[in-house]
Amino acid sequence: MRAAHLFAGVMLSALITGVVPAAAQSSGATGCQAARPLGVARTIEVDAARGPRFGHQQYKDLNVLNDREVILTFDDGPLRPYTRPVLDALDAHCTRATFFMVGRMAAADPEMVKEVARRGHTVANHTWSHRNLRTANAGAQRQEIELGVSMVRRTAGVPISPFFRFPYLSDPQGAQQYLAGRNIAMFSIEVDSNDYRTKDPQIVHRNVMNQLVAQGKGIILFHDIQPSTAGALRRLLDDLAAQKFKVVHVVSKSPVVTVPEFDAMAEKELAKRKTVVASQPLAPRAMTWPVGSPTPPTTRVAAPIGAARPLAPLPAMPAPAVTQPLPPQTAAPEPTLAPAPIERPRGRGDEASWQSRVFDNY
Ligand SMILES: [Zn+2]
Repeated sequence: MRAAHLFAGVMLSALITGVVPAAAQSSGATGCQAARPLGVARTIEVDAARGPRFGHQQYKDLNVLNDREVILTFDDGPLRPYTRPVLDALDAHCTRATFFMVGRMAAADPEMVKEVARRGHTVANHTWSHRNLRTANAGAQRQEIELGVSMVRRTAGVPISPFFRFPYLSDPQGAQQYLAGRNIAMFSIEVDSNDYRTKDPQIVHRNVMNQLVAQGKGIILFHDIQPSTAGALRRLLDDLAAQKFKVVHVVSKSPVVTVPEFDAMAEKELAKRKTVVASQPLAPRAMTWPVGSPTPPTTRVAAPIGAARPLAPLPAMPAPAVTQPLPPQTAAPEPTLAPAPIERPRGRGDEASWQSRVFDNY
């Protein structure tokens, strides 16, 4: 929409309220394990008021990245067996990412949500149950968004960002308007790892590097529920550093504000889960089920909780650089990028396959 485009362009300087400098390319003196740590080249603080939209695959409103800059994003988790190695790879590079979490995955492993936040990453929302919002009416859309927000906030135990990504990148107009009214920023993508299509880390590596070489920069989509990404990330980050890419970390100016009605619903869901887990001590698996379901499901559908491992000590962040000017912000040019392979909106059949994709591991 032309008017929205112009408005967003004008408002960009207000949206990006500050660029917190951070050193990149620091030496091993920081404690980062990588020989050539990526660090965080700069941090962009986003004012989510009125729901700015990022990511050129769907939204041309804003252009926040300079050439050879990337934003690392991970969807659908947390799922401990893969989220942990992802966090370790990020720590090895002393770098930071954004995690768009699914509410019921958060409910299944609250400690993992806390760990992601504690390790310095941006925690955001990806609905309650990963439903395709195009198939939901306004009330269901609201519940998916708000219960996701409340659950991720509750399990994180600390304020989280008012950032959102649509499942399947399926972004009906009404839901966009709702998010804008809730002052929640929307994030699409620019580089797709296609990690859910393969179990081979090398294919993920190649997918990302090929697109980055073609496009020069981008918001990268990974899934921290995918073994291919968990296996690929450390070497991929090494390669990004070797090829002089820089990581930009997005943080929010203000935390998301939750809705009390959905906070209460999140509490109930957590209580339900505790009851079920306590009643089955020999099967200590987290369990989740659809909102409003009167009884626990007959099949177990989520990740094992397992004993929480002690956290590895956090690597020190590189010392901040002295200053870093705000990069020139311009309205995005029309894309000259090769069209990226897409996480397309899908129908209900694909939603089912999302569940099986996650839960088949267990
Ligand atoms: Zn997703």
